[in-house]
Amino acid sequence: MRKRKATRTVHVGDVQVGGDNPVVVQSMTSTDTRDVAATCEQIRRLAEAGCEIARVAVPDRKAVSALSEIRRQSPLPVIADIHFDDRLALLAIEQGMDGIRINPGNIPREKFKDIVWAAKEHDVCIRLGINGGSLEKDLLAKYDGPTASALVESALRSVDYLEDQGFTNMKVSLKSSDVPTMIDACREFSKKSDYPLHLGVTEAGTLLQSAIKSSLGIGMLIAEGIGDTIRVSVTGDPVQEMTVAWGILRALKLRERGPEIISCPTCGRCEIDLLALVEEAERKLAHLKTPLKVALMGCVVNGPGEAAEADIGIAGGKGTGMLFMKGKTVRKIQETEFIPVLLAEIEKLTGETIDP
Ligand code: SF4
Repeated sequence: MRKRKATRTVHVGDVQVGGDNPVVVQSMTSTDTRDVAATCEQIRRLAEAGCEIARVAVPDRKAVSALSEIRRQSPLPVIADIHFDDRLALLAIEQGMDGIRINPGNIPREKFKDIVWAAKEHDVCIRLGINGGSLEKDLLAKYDGPTASALVESALRSVDYLEDQGFTNMKVSLKSSDVPTMIDACREFSKKSDYPLHLGVTEAGTLLQSAIKSSLGIGMLIAEGIGDTIRVSVTGDPVQEMTVAWGILRALKLRERGPEIISCPTCGRCEIDLLALVEEAERKLAHLKTPLKVALMGCVVNGPGEAAEADIGIAGGKGTGMLFMKGKTVRKIQETEFIPVLLAEIEKLTGETIDP
């Protein structure tokens, strides 16, 4: 792991981004923003699962009119995601958004100026969302397509433009669904600018595909010390994104949150239904905030030893198992008791409540 690259600090509402601040986890709601109740419920679930900044799509004026109530109810800072329509950006800023995400390639410069001035007046963060699909024509011609260098030059143009307006509360994303392009673009940008970078692989697919692409794209950059906020994009319920995002940060030992389930792949020695046990434990422990290593291992022969660093664990036998803590056996338990005993012991360790 390389030391985190020094970036300047900006803020989205009360969340500090960049500088020495921890890497921030973001997501985006998948609800219809005009449905305030559904959007606020999803933001609440995201916050519960570890999201720290929520973004909402603003496709039209009806969606804009929902923003102030969403902001009022949201436990998280809210970013309005704007495409093409500068008037929606201005209205979103007036509705009290903490940030706006805008793709400068979609808004003419003279209209962009009004947005920047409004953001400055209301102390709203701007994320410059540079995307391979909407680069300036001259850059596409110069670089023969949406290459990493084309993304970077586009971003730097917009950064210069905002600075010329005296605006610095900004962060930048350089997104591509092509993982190597996204990695190269972020590496190159971070050498040329100290504005915070938001990392994400766009259109990453359903959970498994996204976990692979995001762990590589986001993970490699974070391991190199590049990146200040992250978003794992998943087709489906965005709450799923939190497992991957926090998993990346946990695996790189950058941040910790909630249980890390360690389980063996099983082999011929396993005599319990380990998969069912792991899936049930994952479901029941998902809401916990206390960092904790929980090992669920297929056999007592190797289980406790292989998972010696776990805070608590169960190693299966034939209809029975061993409860162990920090590699030491605590007691023998019946297979039917695995989940109740595990949950009760974890409640004692964390002080958090778990529904049986
Ligand atoms: Fe096999 Fe036991 Fe190792 Fe699991 S812990 S892989 S069951 S030896």
